[in-house]
Amino acid sequence: MASRVIPVDPFDLVIFGGTGDLARRKILPALYRRFTAGQFATDTRLIGAARAEMDARAYRAFVREALAEFAPEEAARKKPLAAFLDLIDYVTLDARGEAGWDALAQKTRTGRIRAYYFSVGPSLFGDLAKRLHKHGLAEGDARIVVEKPFGHDLESARALNRTLARHFDEGQIYRIDHYLGKETVQNLMAIRFGNVLFEPLWNSQYVDHIQITVAESVGVGGRGEYYDRSGAMRDMVQNHLMQLLCLIAMEPPAKFDPDAVRDEKLKVIRALDPVAPANVVRGQYEGSESQPDYRTQAENPESTTESFVALKLNVSNWRWAGTPFYLRTGKRLRERASEIAVVFKDAPHSIFGPEAGRHRNILTIRLQPNEGIELGVTIKEPGPGGMRLIDVPLDMTFAEALGSEEADFPDAYERLIMDVIRGNQTLFMRGDEVEAAWAWTDPIIAEWQEAGTPPLPYATGSSGPDDALMLMHRDGRRWREIRP
Ligand code: NAP
Repeated sequence: MASRVIPVDPFDLVIFGGTGDLARRKILPALYRRFTAGQFATDTRLIGAARAEMDARAYRAFVREALAEFAPEEAARKKPLAAFLDLIDYVTLDARGEAGWDALAQKTRTGRIRAYYFSVGPSLFGDLAKRLHKHGLAEGDARIVVEKPFGHDLESARALNRTLARHFDEGQIYRIDHYLGKETVQNLMAIRFGNVLFEPLWNSQYVDHIQITVAESVGVGGRGEYYDRSGAMRDMVQNHLMQLLCLIAMEPPAKFDPDAVRDEKLKVIRALDPVAPANVVRGQYEGSESQPDYRTQAENPESTTESFVALKLNVSNWRWAGTPFYLRTGKRLRERASEIAVVFKDAPHSIFGPEAGRHRNILTIRLQPNEGIELGVTIKEPGPGGMRLIDVPLDMTFAEALGSEEADFPDAYERLIMDVIRGNQTLFMRGDEVEAAWAWTDPIIAEWQEAGTPPLPYATGSSGPDDALMLMHRDGRRWREIRP
């Protein structure tokens, strides 16, 4: 069963920061894969832009190297690679200066889709927007893609929204959160709203609690300095975990349309109660024999930045009153594993007696690794041993269900960049959503700063500080094991 590829209209895409890490690792490989999948119309142009002095030829060599490293299988095919490189051009420019912009204006064409990917530090977003406007590049079918972080707090996010709004309409701004481009995350909406099975149970009457875990086994590595100014709350919770929470908790939108979906997500963020200090645990990883601790990696011996955070949240609305949401994310945890688990309540009465034990249905949405959805159901243990119950998974691992070809999902960036070209903003954050998420996050961070308490240490390869386990234990619940 081959998947259907619908070509997009011809477009010009400018990658500001075209020589940076994100361009090399994600954007260029994603574009190349969509190109080889047959999704580009002929006459598409991809233009790298950065301060580095080079011509189109040198930039093509740069792109070839990036693809060899980050899309090696596809890059080994010489013919499509040569055809892809033919689409590539380059302009030397400084976001903060005037040189190079006229050249860029000449290379992009009016009367067609023009997309500008801001793959540069956020301090340059305003400069880019301003200069695009000034040079007539914001007119017509133009759109911008803005990378995270979108602000550092509510005030800076508001300021950034205001700056972008001076030059672009909200309908032209694509704030990327690559978690929303994940196949399983979108499948979550299909599962919820495409089946009658789940929605009647999707509320506090039947759901005991929901857990969201985004665990990384790596530390902050080379990003230590940047990360130390951010921390897990800003780097992960305010954006990625919040988006996952929204998709789980939102009401069914009237239709699968950008504003209908984003209106519902916004309502979830606004329904979040402020979080009491007792419902937050912060941690910072210690070193191991072979690995340095957080402070060494962050090059800040006094750092009080959290590399782990766990929270208990309440969504105060009719659907969720009384069903807590537990979120945790951190670095240097035991495995790289991300999942959402919807833990249903016990059956109201066990006809099998106390010896049958406690059994619960759990719907698990695995984001990485092995994207898939699993529903735990209770059945009779096979054999002559009487009515003994066991829990088994009804597994919807896509690789098995759909065959390897279908399961070879486009990377989140592939899908999201194509959505930008198609003009579909459903999977991108709206300005008011981002601001609402900061408005909820800011007081939690302010409280930490005021209290001045350092994060709790946790061992490399663990599940985080013990207090995070207690966050659930004290409610008579427990975290699911962090495992791939
Ligand atoms: P990076 O490796 O430092 O690259 C920055 C790029 O911007 C380079 O191409 C640089 O080239 C260009 N640049 C810097 N100053 C410029 C200026 N004044 N005018 C024009 N171009 C300029 O950064 P990155 O890791 O690719 O990250 C880019 C953005 O994506 C950041 O906002 C980051 O937070 C976000 N992001 C990155 C990742 C990731 O995995 N890397 C993940 C999520 C989000 P020149 O120095 O030659 O100008």
